[in-house]
Amino acid sequence: MEAGLPNLPEWRNECANKEEIMKKVVKFGGSSLASARQFKKVKAIILADKSRSFVIPSAPGKRDKKDVKVTDLLYQCYDAACAGQSCKKILDQIKKRFMDIIDGLDLNLNLDFEFDKIQENFNRRLGRDYAASRGEYLNSLIMSHYLGFPFVDAADVICFDEKGNFLVDKTNHELKEHLAGYKQAVIPGFYGSRPDGTIATFSRGGSDITGSLVARALLADLYENWTDVSGFLVADPQIIDNPVPIETITYRELRELAYMGASVLHEDAIFPVRAEGIPINIRNTNRPDDPGTMIVENTSRKPRYTITGIAGKKGFCAVNIDKTMMNTEIGFGRKVLEVFENCRIPFEHMPSGIDTMSVLVHQDEFQETEQTVISGIHRAVHPDSIDLESDLALIAVVGRGMKAVRGTAARIFAALSHVNINIKMIDQGSSELNIIIGVRNDDFENAIHAIYNIFVNTEL
Ligand code: ASP
Repeated sequence: MEAGLPNLPEWRNECANKEEIMKKVVKFGGSSLASARQFKKVKAIILADKSRSFVIPSAPGKRDKKDVKVTDLLYQCYDAACAGQSCKKILDQIKKRFMDIIDGLDLNLNLDFEFDKIQENFNRRLGRDYAASRGEYLNSLIMSHYLGFPFVDAADVICFDEKGNFLVDKTNHELKEHLAGYKQAVIPGFYGSRPDGTIATFSRGGSDITGSLVARALLADLYENWTDVSGFLVADPQIIDNPVPIETITYRELRELAYMGASVLHEDAIFPVRAEGIPINIRNTNRPDDPGTMIVENTSRKPRYTITGIAGKKGFCAVNIDKTMMNTEIGFGRKVLEVFENCRIPFEHMPSGIDTMSVLVHQDEFQETEQTVISGIHRAVHPDSIDLESDLALIAVVGRGMKAVRGTAARIFAALSHVNINIKMIDQGSSELNIIIGVRNDDFENAIHAIYNIFVNTEL
């Protein structure tokens, strides 16, 4: 076992049968497969552990900050073809990316046939999804040659309907049936097929979902998701210098943080593995000895700090509605929310007092219909006044550990008052998993610093 890894599955395996080999599904992101050098690291990782038997590659990502992802090149190329322009130059550039990898790995693999077919299918306008999927397809062909693992085309096992909606149960069935005969396989991420055989893709970053689906169908012990960071960090590294990593996080905590903008994994990648209680381990291809972050259904392990993570977003607006005796008026809240619903504006939070009610919305969404909303509220509930407060930021302080500890909110407020930050709104869910704090956009970064310091630096 790797040092320091809070490794639930190893423990599970020990409990079951010492001889039994675990099954791990390993997904590698674009930056992990951007060059021959990265492919070599990936092979070393896979060979270091026999249980890493089902591999899901992404398309080659950026080799450095200025580089372009192959998926983006494929979209560009297809759009040029559809606009009647020549796409030969971009297609040659894409081919070179793959040939550089093949040459760097000394593989005997010729992609001329594949690229002729791609060009032909572009001419036949086979679709943007088809175009985008070729990055994963070709990278997986290379990976299958390099590892000596069989190639299973995602088009045969990941199912969408005619309209391109993903079919979860059918996919689970197909994956189970198809993969039953394999001990090892390479399966491209990101795409699948419609009933007529044409290609459909998930949204961007969707190879994470493919990995999760394969892990679920195989009832894998662990879904390893290899990327270029050593897991989730307690706070955004663009705000906090070298934030500490999160060792273990529950699916629910992750959803709260992801919703507030913390992203390492595609949001929809959680659901398939969660359905089978399979943990996800986020790992770093460039630092394979780092334990990364374990994402689990639940854990009895005490978190290292009271909080698990902090995330936040700017750009909210509070619609503050005042009316004396609001509390006695049955249906007041419903009527107000109906106005937002009719304008198709989702609301984020809704703190209220005896005579006041605030509805927090995304500023940019709200601005398009703000006058309709204001007049709608006037007509619906005849308030004394409606006041708008824009340029607010919301910060979520998330942690399963908060339930067991008294004074978490008090510590947050003391930390913020210490740095002279005015709290505009507070909202704590009844699960006590998170506390949401509203501050001015301008105070956002300082507020994150203050909260991080009080929980991480002073709890060390
Ligand atoms: N290659 C696709 C993208 O760039 C999918 C993925 O990497 O997961 O979004």
